[in-house]
Amino acid sequence: MTAESRLPGGRYDTVWASPGRVNLIGEHTDYNDGFVLPFALPHSTVVAARRRAEPGWSVTSEQTGETVTFHEEKVEGWAAYVAGIVWVLREAGHEVPPADLWVASDVPFGAGLSSSAAIECAAMAALVELAGADLPMQLRPRLAQRAENEYVGAPTGVMDQAASTLCRAGHALFLDCRSLATEQVPFDLAEAGLAILVVDSKAPHAHVTGEYAARRRSCEDAAKLLGVTALRDVDVAGLDGALAQLDDEVMRRRVRHVVTEDQRVLDTVAALRSGSLRAVGSLMTASHESMRDDYEITVPQVDTAVRVALEHGAYGARMTGGGFGGCVLALVEEDDCGSVAAAVREAFAANGFAPPDTFVVTPAEGTRRVSLSR
Ligand code: ADP
Ligand code: MG
Repeated sequence: MTAESRLPGGRYDTVWASPGRVNLIGEHTDYNDGFVLPFALPHSTVVAARRRAEPGWSVTSEQTGETVTFHEEKVEGWAAYVAGIVWVLREAGHEVPPADLWVASDVPFGAGLSSSAAIECAAMAALVELAGADLPMQLRPRLAQRAENEYVGAPTGVMDQAASTLCRAGHALFLDCRSLATEQVPFDLAEAGLAILVVDSKAPHAHVTGEYAARRRSCEDAAKLLGVTALRDVDVAGLDGALAQLDDEVMRRRVRHVVTEDQRVLDTVAALRSGSLRAVGSLMTASHESMRDDYEITVPQVDTAVRVALEHGAYGARMTGGGFGGCVLALVEEDDCGSVAAAVREAFAANGFAPPDTFVVTPAEGTRRVSLSR
């Protein structure tokens, strides 16, 4: 049953859906002003909205089983993701009418699939329509990011909201995190007989915040030492020269990851533009090795998933997301999804890891209006 069909019965003024996302390639490049290449998942979060007579807003989530009502006060907990959108729209000068909102979702929380951007972007779309505001899709990701950064208090980049808002079915979204320029790059897996197998490693995230901050600091310090605004300004041709200027071995490895990862995004975009989908596999695997050896953000569960997928015929595989757990993407022939997934599950059991979740995806549509037929 789809999320929209699980909304409580009743009349709504509008219903919008925004998807979760995965990043095909380009990890830890966002805060270095670099490149990312996410695509939207078929899993989405649906927000239905109805104007209400009394002042204030309410939000009810199927997932939490709660209704939270708020006015001007600061909201904490899960409802902050919606209250933050009301806040940011008003900050941007839009009058947001009082409304009741209902949320249903197929995006698992905290698995690195960006349920947070999905709920933000769908709530924003519903509220923008109720407000009758003129707010082009291109301008929405920054606003939703601001809500998550400043209202919820989570220091995330803009990729998740950009992907959830702007992605197109059968495409990946090439995003330049410096200029925010975007390009829809054809990525029609189904047409090529391919699929992406997602393995949610279920690895317990430990020390993520501190490790993330340390990586980020290392990149910023390196950029200063190299006299550039961000590591984006070093390219692979200049990499050896840049590394020769840095004394610290760990910092050199961090820089090498970021610079080569930006190039792998560009190479992936070039391969997709020319229709060479299978060629993306080796870039994915190289990205994983770089995250494992140079950026040191993988854990045994994700390394195992990548290794086993490759041993069972995947064209390439890599961890996606910030690291220390989360999901692995494997590029596989559609017909091989079942056998690769089974092999990964077996290997997890043999290693004493908690059972992973596995599912198959192809690139889906970004934020869209839903008409309920009932
Ligand atoms: P991710 O974005 O990787 O799923 P985050 O920690 O960024 O993980 O965001 C997850 C949080 O977003 C949840 O813990 C919850 O507070 C909120 N959230 C997301 N989707 C929903 C939903 N459908 N209903 C209620 N809260 C949600
Ligand atoms: Mg999130």
